[in-house]
Amino acid sequence: MSNNWISYSNFFDIVGLKAVFSNRNTLSNEGVHDRIVFSELIGLNPKNLVIPKQTHSSNYFVCESPGNYPDTDAVISINKHVVLSMQVADCIPIFIVDIEKKYTALIHAGWRGLVTNIIQKTIKQMFQHGCETKNIKIVLGPSIKSCCFEVSDDVIHQFSQSIITRNRNKKGKYWVDLLALAKKQLSELSINDANIYVDQNCTSCEIDHFHSYRRDGMKAGRMLALIGWV
Ligand SMILES: [Zn+2]
Repeated sequence: MSNNWISYSNFFDIVGLKAVFSNRNTLSNEGVHDRIVFSELIGLNPKNLVIPKQTHSSNYFVCESPGNYPDTDAVISINKHVVLSMQVADCIPIFIVDIEKKYTALIHAGWRGLVTNIIQKTIKQMFQHGCETKNIKIVLGPSIKSCCFEVSDDVIHQFSQSIITRNRNKKGKYWVDLLALAKKQLSELSINDANIYVDQNCTSCEIDHFHSYRRDGMKAGRMLALIGWV
């Protein structure tokens, strides 16, 4: 892990494509200003930023031009004129690229988005624009892993038994493997395992590197995911 940020650009291996993720030391956590600073740091044009208003929905949007997009947790680009951005602090940042068509997407996948199928909705939208399973490569970035993701009685019914890794303890908590759910949804779309890179870092465990909403509560900062073209 670099001191400054994580780059997944080499995994996608397309000339001109940058796919990066900030760590807790990259940025000062000043909201939109951070997106501008981070874009400039990695050589992307901040004027091209797409800035979604994230609401833990399963909404997606095809963003043909820069700017603000309301009420969406997945953004898709079918041109090279935008820099997609997404902020997270435990939820899974998901980078998607069709390496032939050069279309890109970013998803903010928390448990609410996952159980309402934001991953498959987004990729199926890419299929509608001509993307193909065999050409899709995906990075599942740092997120809260099953070691740390507890849920309580009131929401446990949202999750299938297969991803509950530890059953109810004395405090009425369960542990859930959100990463396993994401991977299952990708395999249902027949995305080849070799085309999926999983960053195994747990945002809650890795206190030196990441912000974590579950660990730090309301005062938690955010990491930024960016994908765009130089
Ligand atoms: Zn952990």
